[in-house]
Amino acid sequence: MIDLHTGKITINFYVFWKNYCNLFLKNDLIILYNSMDRLTARNLTRAKRQTQICKVFEIKIDRSHLSKQVQQSLNNLFIETKWFYNYCLSHNKINDANCMITNVPVKVKDEFENRDFAILQTQHRQAIKDRIFNSLKMLSTKKKQGHKVGKLKFKSQVNSIPLRELGGKGHTGTYRIDFEKQRITLAGIKFKWLKVKGLNQIPKESEIANAVLIKKGQDFYLNITAYQDKEIKIVPNASIGIDFGCESQLTFSNGIKINFQVPESDRLKRLSHKLSKNKNSENSKKKNQLKLKRQKEYLHLTDKRKDIKNKIVNAITKSYKYVSFQDESIHAWAMSGKGKSIQYSGIGGIISDLKNKSHTPLQVDKFFPSTQLCPQCGNKYKLSQSERTYNCPKCGYTNDRDVKSAICIETEGLKQIPLDGRDYKAQESPTSGFFDTLTAVNGIKVIKLDSVNVESRSNAVRHRPNYWKII
Ligand SMILES: [Zn+2]
Repeated sequence: MIDLHTGKITINFYVFWKNYCNLFLKNDLIILYNSMDRLTARNLTRAKRQTQICKVFEIKIDRSHLSKQVQQSLNNLFIETKWFYNYCLSHNKINDANCMITNVPVKVKDEFENRDFAILQTQHRQAIKDRIFNSLKMLSTKKKQGHKVGKLKFKSQVNSIPLRELGGKGHTGTYRIDFEKQRITLAGIKFKWLKVKGLNQIPKESEIANAVLIKKGQDFYLNITAYQDKEIKIVPNASIGIDFGCESQLTFSNGIKINFQVPESDRLKRLSHKLSKNKNSENSKKKNQLKLKRQKEYLHLTDKRKDIKNKIVNAITKSYKYVSFQDESIHAWAMSGKGKSIQYSGIGGIISDLKNKSHTPLQVDKFFPSTQLCPQCGNKYKLSQSERTYNCPKCGYTNDRDVKSAICIETEGLKQIPLDGRDYKAQESPTSGFFDTLTAVNGIKVIKLDSVNVESRSNAVRHRPNYWKII
């Protein structure tokens, strides 16, 4: 059959063969063949990926079910990864680094000792080498763009290991997943099943690509990349403006305000204090224990912030098609002494998420005078820091300071929608639904200003194209 076909078909056959037989390529000859058509394979995958969306799911390995021995093996896997990474970097040409090597020189104090790989597999090593190649490629691209770039440095700690191949029937791969029993295996850990949490996040019909094993504190996670067919998002044809501030972190043009902060917990402060007291002590075991505890508490707080951020962004992007916000200069805020309040709320993360996840993000210039402008007559009036209500001296317009800013931002943002947008049919999407979604989020305070809400906003946006319905 193949004889009759052209070379191209043969290449496609090879792609088929690689994808479906999932053979691991050890032989030099096959690797040569591989590099010849890598481009074709990549282009095919790229074309397919355009119709898909990529999501990363974080799966946690349940530490309570791990034996001491397995925990030690997992830790060693990270140490051996570090050895191999540094071994690769010690070559002038990374390609000279041998993936089949069984032991590498490791620097111990001032001397080098040879250490054997007990856990790290050839597949791992190949993936680590590829990762270094990718980093170098990225650096060279940046250099070409005129950025100042440094060199890759030797690492004293490695916290992530790429796992490229998912095992399946008749093929072990670098990791395997058992969805039914909620467990995974990793190559090198003698294929012992490890209990995990969070596998049910991954939709059944998605195609699992690769994974990264991650160490955070004492815990191990598996970040699994999965591709799904693109879903068509149905977002209500509605618009909202958002003002970011320090008093109320988020104020919406429909009069809803959100307050939230996840400050340093007392436990974190206590641990930091203890650690600083133990700074010069000889007891390094105690010091390490404290460090681990502090790291864990810190991660806990970060997760809490992330969770709140994701829920807020999700509520906004699902309820509103047009999201207007000002590209705030977080840096300027931090300089003005509001650094802590930004850090505790993670506003920077919300802004960048809105840019990426909104159906139509409408970014307003950071120099747009949203606090000064009167939305009704266009007059500029500068409020003092303490004035919470905006009273326009020219036309008598009055509104809450932040709500007014949000309205100005919304109006300004909507100017970016071209006129052929007039075909849109605006739908009513009740504010109450949005309000209810937000109040369901744990750890935030939601207020709704009723008295200044609807009427002033509909006045404010009078000069907006008439197809806009105000909600
Ligand atoms: Zn006015």
